[in-house]
Amino acid sequence: MLEIDILTIHPGLFGPFLETAFVGMARTQGAVALGIHDLRDWAGDRHRSVDDSPYGGGPGMVMTPDPMVPAIEDLAGVKGPERRTRVIHLSPQGRPLDQRKLAALASGPPLLLVCSRFEGLDQRILDLAVDEEISIGDYVLSGGEIPAMVLIEGIVRLLPGVLGNPRSIETESFQGGDLLEGPQYTRPPIYRGLSVPQVLRSGDHAAIDAWRRKNAHARTNERRPELLGRAASASTADPDERDRTGLRKD
Ligand code: SAM
Repeated sequence: MLEIDILTIHPGLFGPFLETAFVGMARTQGAVALGIHDLRDWAGDRHRSVDDSPYGGGPGMVMTPDPMVPAIEDLAGVKGPERRTRVIHLSPQGRPLDQRKLAALASGPPLLLVCSRFEGLDQRILDLAVDEEISIGDYVLSGGEIPAMVLIEGIVRLLPGVLGNPRSIETESFQGGDLLEGPQYTRPPIYRGLSVPQVLRSGDHAAIDAWRRKNAHARTNERRPELLGRAASASTADPDERDRTGLRKD
């Protein structure tokens, strides 16, 4: 079971998220244990303060080392080689999240996700207590809670037994490598004059696989051509990488 703790000043944001769909199911199945912790529970003053104005002036507030550092240390342990839990701060300045990172997190140690607000964290919190920063994209939100949910949803669906059919992961965008998934169809066979491609209704699984491969390449080439270049250079540089990309020579 993967343990994920979340440290936030808005624990209420996580309510329905924890109960619903795959995250709710994964918790019920025992694939993941999620703990939500209110940072203000560690605050020592009457106002339960967690932030202060920045040294040097400027707009906004910065999250203070107290109570953040003691809260992280209580939940994850003191930073160092002995600490078992990986402490991740969600931040627009972090390493951009991708599918490979999600897979590594899904099979890695317990996680503590630190959600900050305001202008972010005092640098000393990062130095003293955080292992890594992850960004969900090159834009700025008001807090780390939704980025933490992005991370959790991406991780949980990769945990063994959570998705009914594990094959649905294998064929997804980015999963087999740097390819987008191609077009998909369901019933009815004709809708407003648009037909489902005949091959998908043929029952010929080899032909269907070939059609899907071809269309995954075509769609990737049309929408994200840089991904194909990345996969191709990885395949010439490192044969193991080629296996992971799932790209074939044909
Ligand atoms: N002052 C910070 C900066 O310029 O980099 C931005 C702070 S932002 C208003 C407040 C918090 O929201 C961040 O500290 C982070 O926890 C979260 N956040 C905002 N955008 C994010 C992103 N793209 N990825 C991950 N976390 C994000």
